[in-house]
Amino acid sequence: MSLPLVPPRRDPAALEALPAPDLPHPVVGWRTWRVGRRAQRRAELVAPLAGVTWPSRHPMIASCGSARHTPPGDRCRCGLYAVSDPGSLEWGISDHEVLGVVALWGQIVEGGRGWRASHAYPRFVLTGPSIAGEQRAALSRRYGVPVHRSEVPPRDLAALLSDEPAVADRLRHGKDGEVETVLAERMPVWTQRWHDRRARAEAAARRPRAILAGRWRRS
Ligand SMILES: [Zn+2]
Repeated sequence: MSLPLVPPRRDPAALEALPAPDLPHPVVGWRTWRVGRRAQRRAELVAPLAGVTWPSRHPMIASCGSARHTPPGDRCRCGLYAVSDPGSLEWGISDHEVLGVVALWGQIVEGGRGWRASHAYPRFVLTGPSIAGEQRAALSRRYGVPVHRSEVPPRDLAALLSDEPAVADRLRHGKDGEVETVLAERMPVWTQRWHDRRARAEAAARRPRAILAGRWRRS
């Protein structure tokens, strides 16, 4: 099912020119990017699978190898993806992956986990502790959106957010001020939970080796 979400009283040229038009009820979802590692690409948000850099101050517009339809095609996999539950995102192995919320507009196809859209632009980005403040500032300047620091790696943050759907939705739908408030409120709790989970995982990883060592001594 395609539902055209074209804002009233706005011509298509204006839609293209704005990074993220102020739609009355935009579709907003979670997604991931990679951020550049090398100096020239440090301020770039890169689509993890396609490897394409998202433009700054202009909407990202979906493309498709098929000339038979304009993205997102009903029976195609093309379009710009976002999901409603951050726990359903897929992650690679890079420690330079980041989490964010995007506004989707234009042509939108709804799927099981979220949406595929023709147009998208980031609303805010959350980077893990391995991304320096200077790189966050450069990303924020380039894209004109807030780039927040998470004390927890983004993949783990997405899992923690998935356990708190109401909080995740407050972030997803929140305006700038509210996003900051929620992050300030919840980040200490998430950080503590993350440390606890890691400590439990590390203890579990140590256990079989301790048993093995014990057996070794006895034999
Ligand atoms: Zn397609």
